[in-house]
Amino acid sequence: MAAPGDGGRFLVIFDFDETLVNESSDDAVVRTAPGQALPDWLRASYREGQYNEQMQRVLAYLAQQGVTESAIRAEIQSIPETPGLSALLDFLRAHAQDFECVVLSDANSVFIEAWLQHVGARQLFLEIFTNPAHFDDSGRLVLAPFHAHSCPRCPDNMCKQHILRDYLGRRSDERRRPFQRVFYVGDGANDVCPCLALGTADVAFARRDFPMHRILTHMQQMPAALTHTQQQTPAALTHTDTQTDTHTQQQTPAALTHTHTHTHTQQQTPATLRATVQPWSSGHDVMEYLQTAVGER
Ligand SMILES: [Mg+2]
Ligand SMILES: [Zn+2]
Repeated sequence: MAAPGDGGRFLVIFDFDETLVNESSDDAVVRTAPGQALPDWLRASYREGQYNEQMQRVLAYLAQQGVTESAIRAEIQSIPETPGLSALLDFLRAHAQDFECVVLSDANSVFIEAWLQHVGARQLFLEIFTNPAHFDDSGRLVLAPFHAHSCPRCPDNMCKQHILRDYLGRRSDERRRPFQRVFYVGDGANDVCPCLALGTADVAFARRDFPMHRILTHMQQMPAALTHTQQQTPAALTHTDTQTDTHTQQQTPAALTHTHTHTHTQQQTPATLRATVQPWSSGHDVMEYLQTAVGER
């Protein structure tokens, strides 16, 4: 066994919503509201890129309606795991000397801690990176942003790439060696940015047919489209592909629009995907891949 704090040779990063749990926890908590739904005025108050603020309003509303801490915890704990997750977590527990596991999520600390403790999986994760939350004296769940950052690709309160880079740097120093390989398991559009920090030996496990999978697949398959983007940032990147045309751009799905509208981010964080993209539908898919990795020296 590795010494405590030394960790395994592999890092596995898990998103939470629709990756560990088979639903968005922010959707689940709405079921505690009167009528199990939010009023129209509250749903209409959402502003692009300000999801964290919206959840603060939702949680304030629930408190006003008398929804208790225990009701919220019970609702979160009732969210089912994603298919095959138990098998994957059992595998990681059985190979604790090889794998260091962390959670990286735009949900919040109360939801994630409650769920992981309920299913007995809290100890598997060395750290949880998420928006800090606590119940205040009046029983209201208060939410704060994780950090401030300058990545225009990501929501105001969280850039997962910044957090991942910080963690990899810190753990490399503490362990006096980098991880041999990094595995990122996710599903959402906000799981794309951290995958751009991965190297060629690393793997982005993208839940099949979810936004992360669609976006990464297009980044792999449509280099011409990305090159077109690069044309708009000549100082940062050299245009090397002559096949760029507007037809390619027209085929680019709505999922990529976010990337294209923030082309200036290329100068700060190059939009180069070097990791292998591995679709997953079940925890068993991830487990089989990791089993092979364990066997390789
Ligand atoms: Mg997710
Ligand atoms: Zn970002």
